[in-house]
Amino acid sequence: MHVMSVVGNRPQFVKAAPLSRALRDVARETLVHSGQHYDPDLADLFFDELGIPQPDHALGVGRGTPLQQTAAMITRLEEIIAADRPDVVLAYGDTTTTLAAALAASKTGVALAHVESGLRSFDRSMPEEQNRVVTDHLSDVLFCPTDVAVANLAREGITRNVHQVGDVMFDAALMFADAARTRPGPGALGLTPREYVLVTVHRAAATDTRAALRALVDVLYAIDRPGVFPVHPRTRTKLTEAGLWDEALAAPHVRLAGPVGYLDFTALLMSAAAVVTDSGGVQKEAFFHGVPCVTVRDTTEWTETVDAGYNTLTGLDAGRVAAALRDARVPDGPRPEFYGDGDAAGKIARVLTRG
Ligand code: UDP
Repeated sequence: MHVMSVVGNRPQFVKAAPLSRALRDVARETLVHSGQHYDPDLADLFFDELGIPQPDHALGVGRGTPLQQTAAMITRLEEIIAADRPDVVLAYGDTTTTLAAALAASKTGVALAHVESGLRSFDRSMPEEQNRVVTDHLSDVLFCPTDVAVANLAREGITRNVHQVGDVMFDAALMFADAARTRPGPGALGLTPREYVLVTVHRAAATDTRAALRALVDVLYAIDRPGVFPVHPRTRTKLTEAGLWDEALAAPHVRLAGPVGYLDFTALLMSAAAVVTDSGGVQKEAFFHGVPCVTVRDTTEWTETVDAGYNTLTGLDAGRVAAALRDARVPDGPRPEFYGDGDAAGKIARVLTRG
């Protein structure tokens, strides 16, 4: 069994870490890096510290609009698929790279498997939602992280070859928790465990218009306790272009920093009082580590975290973020086992090699 995994950005590297290991125990894996994230802080660092094998093919698509990137990726993927002839192409998550892998596999007649299938925010204006829907409908094998995801697919008529395997990011959280605990964490930034807020914001809805960027800066000013914001390069560029970077830097309590690696980020997350984010992955990781999450979006694809009281949706609204932070706590008692048993990667590898 020859699996071609296609990755290209930060959350996909995190997902590939456990999955690549599991796949290589039982199959041949060819790893393709699209180059969607090319900044060393978002790419190389992750390969090094998470022990991800070096890519067999680096497409190096780099900067461009999502459509330009998609076009460049599918052109190169068509050549690579023709040369390498994998049995299955594995697409991860909901990014431009995911969409390109899905289109390339289905147009070349190679089976397509999708990891993190069935997620829906029900907001079709989000690029991630568009990518998920198209990829799921082209997929031959669908690996869902949760029961909610399985039900979402069933509502769209997709019931064949659907496997609820758990969440590969939960696998990664367990796999790297001990390594993260050895990192300097909040102390190195002068922050006291359980008394600071960790911030991450990078999605299009928060960075593509001046009004949204203005609202983001207002959110930073509304955070009234110490905080750290490892800023995604996209967010930094957009704030700078909008002339808001210096104002963001002057937020009274939140310190802005560059993006950090997965282990440092996890160390900061584990000890935070709360996290303020628009990230898909970080909402889940907050849940894994029992940290209350404030999500500065109107919708989420990880609806179970909201329904169970671990995550609050505020939109990009300073007043609502401040209120949510005042009330931020996680429910008492054991956390529900929404995301499986930490062996999603093993289950995916076994399903794929079963044929
Ligand atoms: N992350 C990281 N460093 C940071 C911010 C996030 O390593 O400075 C990790 C985080 O732990 C999670 C992943 O990046 O595993 C989430 O990626 P991102 O928020 O970029 O994308 P999304 O999940 O929204 O697609």
